[in-house]
Amino acid sequence: MHELIDHPCVQHKLAIIRNVETAHKRFRELATEITQFLCYEALKNVKVREVTVQTPVAEASCQKIDTDIVVVPILRAGVGMLEGILELVPTARVGFVGLYRDEVTKEPVSYYQRLPTQTRGGTCIIIDPMLATGGSTAATIDLLKENGAGKIVVVCIVTCPEGLSFVEDLHPDVPVYTAAIDDHLNDHKYIVPGLGDAGDRLFGTTD
Ligand code: URA
Repeated sequence: MHELIDHPCVQHKLAIIRNVETAHKRFRELATEITQFLCYEALKNVKVREVTVQTPVAEASCQKIDTDIVVVPILRAGVGMLEGILELVPTARVGFVGLYRDEVTKEPVSYYQRLPTQTRGGTCIIIDPMLATGGSTAATIDLLKENGAGKIVVVCIVTCPEGLSFVEDLHPDVPVYTAAIDDHLNDHKYIVPGLGDAGDRLFGTTD
């Protein structure tokens, strides 16, 4: 289950963020802006409750978000999407997950995790700009399910058919929202054409 957000406003920003000439300051700003659009869509089915609000004129029937929202950036690049979603949902809580790939088994291994207690029963949004092999995403979904998450959605900026199938086969109940489904993964597990190493581009660690 996935949704490609092909709105021109998102695709325009994607064209700029992909460009090798876009330096880290602008890259970070664009990651924030794109994340807002993607999360706006990803939250469209979030649980709400009816409330009555007194306007200066009369009572109005309104809706308020009625679930704990827990944002889970996958370290390190996921942090680059955090500001965008926190601007959209300022009351969201944040849980961090750090994973590395075991050189021998090639499996993701967790080296850090700190989840809010509200993960249990809450709506969890996993953020990572690049859903490449899907290994880290699937491992994070496993972790959130083990911690009793009520609902899980994944938001990434770019993915590819390989990673998407990997996650969808293991977790068909978890929707993925993305701005792009690119062509393929190369031998170094980079998405092609992608946008390069998202962490390096976000944090200015390229030479
Ligand atoms: N991680 C990245 O930062 N870029 C890719 O293309 C794949 C994984």
